[in-house]
Formats: sequence, C-alpha cells, structure tokens
Amino acid sequence: MLSKNNFISSAVAVLLCIFSVPAKANGPFELMGVTIDTGEKSSYLAQEKNVSLPVTVINGSGEGPTLLLTAGIHGDEFPSMYALQQLQQSLDPKEMNGVLVVLHLANLDGFHGNRIALNPKDEKNLNREFPGSADGTPTEQIAELLTREFIGKADFLIDMHSGSANQTLLNHVYSPFVGDEELDALTFEFAKATGMQHIVMYGDRPRDPNNSISYPNTAMTRGKPGLTTEIGHLAQTDEKSVAEALDVAKNAMYFLKMLPEKPKQHAEAIIYETIKYPKSSKTGFFKASVVIGDKVMTGQDIGIVTDYFGNLVETLKSPVNGTVMMVNQMPAIKNGQSVMAIGVEISE
Ligand SMILES: [Zn+2]
Repeated sequence: MLSKNNFISSAVAVLLCIFSVPAKANGPFELMGVTIDTGEKSSYLAQEKNVSLPVTVINGSGEGPTLLLTAGIHGDEFPSMYALQQLQQSLDPKEMNGVLVVLHLANLDGFHGNRIALNPKDEKNLNREFPGSADGTPTEQIAELLTREFIGKADFLIDMHSGSANQTLLNHVYSPFVGDEELDALTFEFAKATGMQHIVMYGDRPRDPNNSISYPNTAMTRGKPGLTTEIGHLAQTDEKSVAEALDVAKNAMYFLKMLPEKPKQHAEAIIYETIKYPKSSKTGFFKASVVIGDKVMTGQDIGIVTDYFGNLVETLKSPVNGTVMMVNQMPAIKNGQSVMAIGVEISE
C-alpha cells in the first residue's frame, strides 16, 4: 500500500542522490557513432542498420547528469515533438550543465504512416517491445537500440506521450515504482518537479530488466528514473499542449540543475494510486456520458453501448470513486475492450 509519507520520508536521501549523480559533461559525449564535444550542440539523423532516429545532443559546458527526453514512441502524439524542437533551438550549450539527449521521434515509420501507436513495418507497439532484440522485427530493433545506446548512456528519462487520435485525456505524468526505495523516491521527486498537476503512481510493470516491456520501465529496471508524460490529445498540435510539454522539459532540467534559472512555483500535485479501466461487455457503439476531469462515484453511469441497430445493450457504471483521466472517442467497441481510464486518488 502506498502512502504519501513513504515518499516524503525519503526526501533527504533523494537530495543526496541528486548531488551524487555521476558527472559526464567533462568530456566529449558519443551517441550512435557521433561525438559531440563539451560546449557543443549537434542535430543529426542517427543511423544503425535499418533504424533512423532524429536526435539532438547538447553537451553543456558544466558538469551535470545526462537527461534523455523522447517524443514519438507513438508516431501520432505530436505536442512533445514540437516542444522538443523548440527546446533544442532555444538552448545554448555554453550556458548549460550536463548532457541533454533529445530523441525527437522514436517511431519514424509510425509518424509517416499516420498510425495510432503502431509501427506499420510490423504492426507492433514500440512501448511494449522492450528491451528489444537486435535480430528481431523492426520495432524490436528500435527497442534494443534505445535500451543500449540511449538509456544505457542516460541518467534520467522522460518518455513524452499524448492521447492518440482516438482519445481525450487529462494531462498527467506516470511516476513508476519498482521496490527500490531510493530510486522510487527520486523518481517521485522528479515527477513532482515536472510541474504536472496529476501524478499517477505506477507499479504494475515487471521488475526484471530482461522483460522490461515499456521504455520507462527499461530505465527503471536499470536503476534510472523514467517518467511517462501524457500531454495533449486527439492527435492535435495545439499551442497550449506544446507549451505545457516545453514547460515539463525545462522544469526537468531545472530540477537537475542543468539550467541556471529557478523553476516557477508549481500547483500542488494530486496523486493517484491506481487507474481503473472499465470495460464493455457488449459489442457495438460506445458513447461516454462523462468527460475528462469529471469526478465520478462508484456505480455512477459513465457511458452506454448500443448495438448495430441503435438499441441500448449496456449502461456502463464506474467501478470506483475517481477522476476521469482518459476517454475513448471512437464509437467502435468490442466485448472486453476498455472504454476509459479513471484515476483513484491516493488514500491518506
Ligand atoms: Zn503514447
């Protein structure tokens, strides 16, 4: 069972941990065969075998950690792609500490294929194929490369997502925990430092580094804090979402003392201990009767399913008291598919 106190009591350990982050900015930084000298910035299409990845490496003049920011694990989630383009354009390595590695688009084929979540080359979801395989399918090869070359050289990761074309969502950050008190506490502090108001604690992923499944979990199972942010939705590219993603990226850099400015005061975070995914038990058309951000009570109506002929076949009820975090906006629904996500706030 989680409680706020577990995390607060670890705050001192967290601070010690930040100041003992290994300094890697003294020397040149090499990524996928390209070396960036201290105080230099380089944007390039990194290539290995059949994988191409647009990256920017900014090797700051001062000592500091290596932060890896990634967009486009899912190719139709755009706000963070734009935010990271703006971020790399705005940064001067001479005024920065540590190394910032920006992976602008991890799933280039999904992006150009206009695909929801998947890679059209093998119909796989990159965020379910970690730690990947060098001899595997195209998606497994990307995962292996990200595990080895990107997570392997980073100290902190933020994997930046959005709601896909078929979803509305309330912006939130996942703060995973893996049973390592120091790492979990540092990860939680890192999540709070993003400035995002809605923080979801997440402990459901495997703890075996050889079966890490998702990108951030690959970082966590290798002892490195790895967050997932969800900002924006419906495959939109709105300025508000781009601005929030840019804020999150900069706040992470302030937290790691990579930029000299002080972060602005954040709104107090709301912490969720879990997310529930109510499912339809019928096939047909789904229509929600709630919207993101709504507070719902156990047993409250949250949507209906009608059959192909328009007849009501199911009224869905909330399984918990919680906040609507994500809603499926496409009507097609099959028996057993989830229709929305409801966050349950942590108990005191
Ligand atoms: Zn995503």
